[in-house]
Amino acid sequence: MQGMMMNRPLSIIDILRYASETHPRGEIVSVRTEGDVHRTNYRETMGRVGQLAHALKAMGIEKGDRVATLAWNGYRHFELYYAISGIGAVCHTINPRLSAEQLIYITHHAEDRVLFVDTTFVPLIEALADKLPPNMRYVLMTDREHMPDSKVFFHCYEELLEGCPAEYDWPTVPEDSAAGLCYTSGTTGHPKGVLYSQRSTVLHAFTIAVTQDGSLKEASRLLPVVPLFHVNAWGLPYAAPLTGACLIFPGPAMDGKSLYDLMEREKVFSAWGVPTIWLGLLGEIKERGRNPEGFGEVIIGGSAAPRSMIEAFEKSGVTVCHAWGMTEMSPVGTDGGLSSDMKALPFDDQIKLKMTQGRRVFGVDLKIVDDAGNRLPHDGVAVGELFVRGNAIASGYFNNEEASKAAVDPEGWFGTGDIASIDADGFLRLQDRAKDLIKSGGEWISSIDLENIVMAHPDVASCAVIAVPHPKWDERPLLCVVPAGERKPPKEEMDKMLLEHVAKWQLPDDVVYLDALPLTATGKVSKLTLRQQFADYKLP
Ligand code: ADP
Repeated sequence: MQGMMMNRPLSIIDILRYASETHPRGEIVSVRTEGDVHRTNYRETMGRVGQLAHALKAMGIEKGDRVATLAWNGYRHFELYYAISGIGAVCHTINPRLSAEQLIYITHHAEDRVLFVDTTFVPLIEALADKLPPNMRYVLMTDREHMPDSKVFFHCYEELLEGCPAEYDWPTVPEDSAAGLCYTSGTTGHPKGVLYSQRSTVLHAFTIAVTQDGSLKEASRLLPVVPLFHVNAWGLPYAAPLTGACLIFPGPAMDGKSLYDLMEREKVFSAWGVPTIWLGLLGEIKERGRNPEGFGEVIIGGSAAPRSMIEAFEKSGVTVCHAWGMTEMSPVGTDGGLSSDMKALPFDDQIKLKMTQGRRVFGVDLKIVDDAGNRLPHDGVAVGELFVRGNAIASGYFNNEEASKAAVDPEGWFGTGDIASIDADGFLRLQDRAKDLIKSGGEWISSIDLENIVMAHPDVASCAVIAVPHPKWDERPLLCVVPAGERKPPKEEMDKMLLEHVAKWQLPDDVVYLDALPLTATGKVSKLTLRQQFADYKLP
C-alpha cells in the first residue's frame, strides 16, 4: 500500500532558503584572494545567490549543464554551489592541484560550459586556455577593481551580478537529478567523475548534521580547511546553513600560522581537515604555547590520524573526531564520535577508540569480505576489503561505463579498495588501502600501523612506510622519515618503539630521510610517488 504523504523532491536550494529565513544572521566570513576579510550572512547570501542564478541563465546555462569552479574556500564559491544546483545545473568543482593534463582531461570529459576562477588561478588559465574546451567561458571571481589585464577574456563576477534581481523563481527539479560533480584520481587511468544528486546531497547534509551535533548547531563557528574544490568540503556548505552554524572560509592560506591567526580572530570552535594541515597548526600551537581562543574540536579525515596527533589535541583540551570517507561517499562514511559511556573511559582507552575510523553514519552500511567475496564477521579480528552501500554513495562514474561496472559488486555494494576490520561495537579499523599494504612472504604489513608508532618519536615530523620490491619476500617495508629538526633519529630508536607493538618481521628493513613527503592533490601523502621514487631501492 502506498503512503499518503506529499512527494516533495529534496532540493539543495531549500537548505539555503531555510537558513536565510531561520538563521538569517548566521555568518559567513571569508579570507579573500583580494587580501582582505569579507563578512556576510545567510540572508544576504540568499539574495546574491538569486542574482547569480539570473546571471547564469543570462549566460545560457540550462538544466544539466556543467558549470565548473577553480577556487578556494570563500563566499563566492559558496554562492556558486547554491546558484548552479538551484537552477538545475551541475556544479563541477575542480581541484587546482591536479596536473595540467588532468585539468584538461576533466574539463573536456565533463563538457564544462563556464569556468569560475579565483584570481590566484589567472596564470594557470592563461597557460592552459588553448587546450581547454574551445567554447568555454571564463568568469573571474572578483570585482571590477581587481580585474587584471589578461590575454584570456574573463567576465567579472561582481559585474555579472550587478543589476540582477535578488528574487529568483527556483524551478522544481527531480530529486535524483545531478547537482554536483567531483573527479577522483585513481592510481591508474584518468580521473573518474562522481555525480552527486540533489537528493544524495541533502540526505548527506542531514546525516552529518545529526552525527556532528556538537558543532553543527546554531551560531557554532566552523572552519572548513577541507576544500570546497574537493568532495563538497565534506558536506559542510550544506550542513552548516541547515543547522545555522557559521562558516569561516580560510581562502588560499592554509599554513599553520595563517590558520592559527584566523582561528584566534574568528573564535573558531570546530576545524575540519586532513592530518597534514593539523601538523602545521600543532607546530604553531607549540610555538605559541596555547590553543587559539575558543578552539574546542577538530575533525580529522582523508587519511589516518596518527596517535601522536590525537593525543596532542586531546591533552590540550581539543576533542578529536576521526572520520573516514571517500569522494564516492559524498564523502562521510564513518565518524569517530564517542558515546557517553565511552567518554567516561580512561584517557588511554578513549585514544584507542579515536585511532579507529569510528562507526558508520546513518545511511551507510558496511561489510568486509574475503578474496572470494564471502562476508567476514564484525569481530574486530577478521580483515577484508570494505564495501559500502547507502543513499549518498556512488552507483557508478559519470560517462565511464567500464569504471562503473567495476565499481559495484553483484549485490550492489561499492568496493572502497580499503582493507579493514570492524569490531562488535561497529568501530571500523582501516589497515591500509589495498594498494598500499605491504605483502611480505604472503603476510600483510599495515603501513598505517607502523607510521602511527613512528610518528610518536619526538624527532619525527612526518613519515610514511611503503613497500619496496624484494627478491625473497616479494615486498618489504621501507620507512621514509622527515626529521623534525637537525637530528636524524636512528633506525634503532624507531625499531625499539615499533617492537613494543609489532612483530620483529614487520620492522622496516631500512630508513631513508627526506626533506618533505610528496603530497597528492588532496593533501595526502602520495605513496604512489614514494613507491616510484624508491622502486629500485636496494634494501640492506
Ligand atoms: P583521494 O585520495 O583522491 O583524495 P578520496 O578523498 O576519495 O580520494 O580518498 C578516499 C580514501 O582516503 C579512502 O578510501 C581511504 O583510503 C582514505 N581515507 C579517508 N579517510 C581516512 C581515515 N580516516 N583513515 C585512513 N584512511 C582514510
